[in-house]
Amino acid sequence: MADAPTIVWFRQDLRVSDHPALTAASKRDGAVVPVYILCDEPEGDWSIGGASRWWLHHSLVALSRKLEGLGSRLILRRGAAVDVLQALAKETGAARLHWTRGYAADAGKIDTAVKEAMDAADVTCKRFAGRLLFEPEEIKTGGGTPYKVFTPFWRACRGEISDVTPLGTPDELTAPKDWPESDALDDWGLLPHSPDWSDGFAPLWTPGEEGAQQKLKSFLDGPVSSYDTDRDRPDKEGTSRLSPHLHFGEISPRQVWVATQHTNAADGGDGDKFLAEIGWREFSHHLLFHWPTLPDEPFRPEFSAFPWAENKKALRAWQRGQTGYPIVDAGMRQLWQTGWMHNRVRMIVASFLIKHLLIHWREGEAWFWDTLVDADLASNAAGWQWVAGSGADASPYFRIFNPISQGQKFDPNGDYVREFVPELAGLPKSVIHEPWTADGATLAQAGVTLGETYPKPIVDHGEARKRALAGYDVVKEAHG
Ligand code: FAD
Repeated sequence: MADAPTIVWFRQDLRVSDHPALTAASKRDGAVVPVYILCDEPEGDWSIGGASRWWLHHSLVALSRKLEGLGSRLILRRGAAVDVLQALAKETGAARLHWTRGYAADAGKIDTAVKEAMDAADVTCKRFAGRLLFEPEEIKTGGGTPYKVFTPFWRACRGEISDVTPLGTPDELTAPKDWPESDALDDWGLLPHSPDWSDGFAPLWTPGEEGAQQKLKSFLDGPVSSYDTDRDRPDKEGTSRLSPHLHFGEISPRQVWVATQHTNAADGGDGDKFLAEIGWREFSHHLLFHWPTLPDEPFRPEFSAFPWAENKKALRAWQRGQTGYPIVDAGMRQLWQTGWMHNRVRMIVASFLIKHLLIHWREGEAWFWDTLVDADLASNAAGWQWVAGSGADASPYFRIFNPISQGQKFDPNGDYVREFVPELAGLPKSVIHEPWTADGATLAQAGVTLGETYPKPIVDHGEARKRALAGYDVVKEAHG
């Protein structure tokens, strides 16, 4: 069995460099059979969303090419992971199965089921790390419990990190004598059609490992040196836009870490601030691992008492970027057009949904899940619960973002609004974040008729704030 093949099961690790499971397989005598399975078991209720399907399609194309460059192929199969892997092991006579671990509860359950089935078939399983810098079991408080607060968590992580050396790419992968059959990617129907809403995606994104490395390089060549000041500015290219690449594992956090350390911006500077955001990604995954209900239930149980409103009309206005608050609408339209939204604006639109409209954060989480190319079970859930005040180390509930002053502060000239809400483009910066305060002549000159070309605000900020605080009183009472 020494030269029997090793199956490498690709999941959210769609790269060939710094890939411990693939590298280990390449070092064995036998052939390597790379496979990607379009799983019929979603992560709980979270089957892959529309924008992620678009990304996945292109990322699989890129991975196939990379593997072909190493003398190999990517086999595509669809079904329950256990069934597919059992069948593939039988077809190929594989002796070993390698994969990179995930951190959601369902990923863990699938791993266990796969291991049991493979043990029964005499196939040796090896699960590798590679998705995070730190495994959730490694970082614990002095009392041996998982951290619930980011700052001490990240301090503990940074204390642990000494030798981070990413692996290279295997020189080549031995091909099996006969390749097993593969599905055709196009038959999976991952790309949108009738309608195809992905026009705005392609100019912005290059899914795959090369696109990821290129994004990292252009970020480290420039924007990183002013990351601390520009990261909150949606009107600038101040952040890395690595999130979908990291989500799909086209680049490893170790690669990001090491490349950032090599810039002048590291060592307590802007690079450190950037790495702290990578830290938030780690923290979110740790939370999901230790509190697997994070995507579905409030981390702080007293928030179950919150009196949420059912308001389909308002939810629809929010989803479509028609709330009458320009910064909110710009964010929601950026999301729809590009599959991504700036972090500052994610916080503003989330706060608006939860606190101005009193709509449950799970509705927002679900919309993001379907529309973000970086939709990530851990970071999405942690982000929504952070804004809702119900999460670990969350923003206090009573911090209610004012969508007018947030717009004025972080999009001071209104350029971001002008890009994504073009019907307001002619307004001067003095009123662009609150067009209802503009006089008739200004509106007429800009071609804006409120209620016709652009909506009037669907809620009044002051009243919404009072209602939101009254809702919080119910939570406080429930908490005693
Ligand atoms: P950069 O500022 O360049 O940061 C580098 C990397 O660090 C990011 O690519 C990302 O992997 C990580 N990161 C940065 N900020 C955070 C954060 N607050 N939490 C966790 N990781 C972070 N991020 C996702 O990757 N997927 C999601 O589904 C997601 N949903 C969110 C929902 C809400 C309501 C909020 C408030 C935030 C959410 N985030 C999510 C976090 C954050 O908005 C994005 O990671 C960030 O905007 C991605 O842009 P970037 O790559 O340019 O980030």
